[in-house]
Amino acid sequence: MTDKPTKPATRVVEAGRKREWTSVPGGKGAVVNPPVWRASTHLYEDIADLAGGRPNEDGHFYYGRRGGPTQWALADALTSLEPGADGTELFPSGVAAIACTLLAVLRPGDELLVTDNAYEPTRNIALSMLRQFGITARPFDPLAPDGLANAITDATKAVILESPGSLTMEVCDIPALASLARERGILSIIDNTWATPLGFPALTHGCDVSVMSLTKHVGGHSDVMMGSASAAKPVIKRIRRQAQFMGQVVSPDDASLALRGLRSMQVRLERSTQTALDVARWLDERPEVSAVLCPMLPGAPGHDLWQRDFSGGCGLFSFVLSDGFDVDARARLIDALDLFGIGFSWGGFESLAIPFDPAPVHKLRPWPPGIDTGSGLGVRLSIGLEDAEDLIADLAGGLDAMGAK
Ligand SMILES: *Cc1c(COP(=O)(O)O)cnc(C)c1O
Repeated sequence: MTDKPTKPATRVVEAGRKREWTSVPGGKGAVVNPPVWRASTHLYEDIADLAGGRPNEDGHFYYGRRGGPTQWALADALTSLEPGADGTELFPSGVAAIACTLLAVLRPGDELLVTDNAYEPTRNIALSMLRQFGITARPFDPLAPDGLANAITDATKAVILESPGSLTMEVCDIPALASLARERGILSIIDNTWATPLGFPALTHGCDVSVMSLTKHVGGHSDVMMGSASAAKPVIKRIRRQAQFMGQVVSPDDASLALRGLRSMQVRLERSTQTALDVARWLDERPEVSAVLCPMLPGAPGHDLWQRDFSGGCGLFSFVLSDGFDVDARARLIDALDLFGIGFSWGGFESLAIPFDPAPVHKLRPWPPGIDTGSGLGVRLSIGLEDAEDLIADLAGGLDAMGAK
């Protein structure tokens, strides 16, 4: 480990590799990765040790539900990658991380404001699940100049943000929204799955909690589900307490897979960003496409804010079919693709395509303003690690399969 400031590719290699988790017990030497510590019971030295108790924090043997060195190494790695965070709590999925974080910071009578471009399960947690606990939630328009300011009431205690938004990829002015929330004593939580802290260090941009679905970029190989929440001290303690109440624990095997994924994350993100840009540029020229919703693409909606605030992108973006194409044409396009799988999730090494219609999930504004929404039919692509020319050739075949309008 080095204390010198390093670049993201170096940081993901160094992160979380504390000697105490990798060294050979009682001897000289260490292994590179923390072993998979499978453990429910943690043993105590003697009755005095048992009676002394151990702090409810990462890095102390207590009982398997509080994790062991494999999980601690992952949590520590994620904390070190998120400047401003004092700790990270791991969850069995991204959705679990969002649900538990909201339960940790809200109380009956409180109100939550939800960005209108939120991931659909986030919206459902907010608008349905939290109601059982006497917590109300309302959507706000993250792109309207006073969208958040006008939505805040005396009861508002937290706001959940996401940028770029799920499906429609609008980039919001997170520093402005987070700072407005902070001025009013409102906690801001961001779903930072798209950018990761490597592309958007959320806490240094004013957010209080950075939540990620590790299922996506961190895992990176479509073989593990996990989530995380990182925050500074008072808030991470509340999240940890709630997670312990709710028995949230991840397996050491899964933590080990996530750590393996993390080591190549920067390289994968750089490569898939580059390929996504090649594909986006190509789609932008096609008459079958009315809009390309890719924040990394110059001229695309949200590009200026992305350029200002983000230091990296990823392979996930969307496009809209031109006026005149219908749902059957879109199905022909996607069915004709050989290299793109059809499936949920994203961020794996393999490319995916999925159709979407934002209207049912975005209540206030289905599409980002100022774009040609054409047929109103969206396709979301997750660009993997394949060759850009091959992916473009595959998409060309798909567009041809749609036929004339
Ligand atoms: C996938 C996803 C989640 C949920 O993560 P899971 O690990 O699938 O539960 C949350 N937010 C965003 C933006 C996602 O894409």
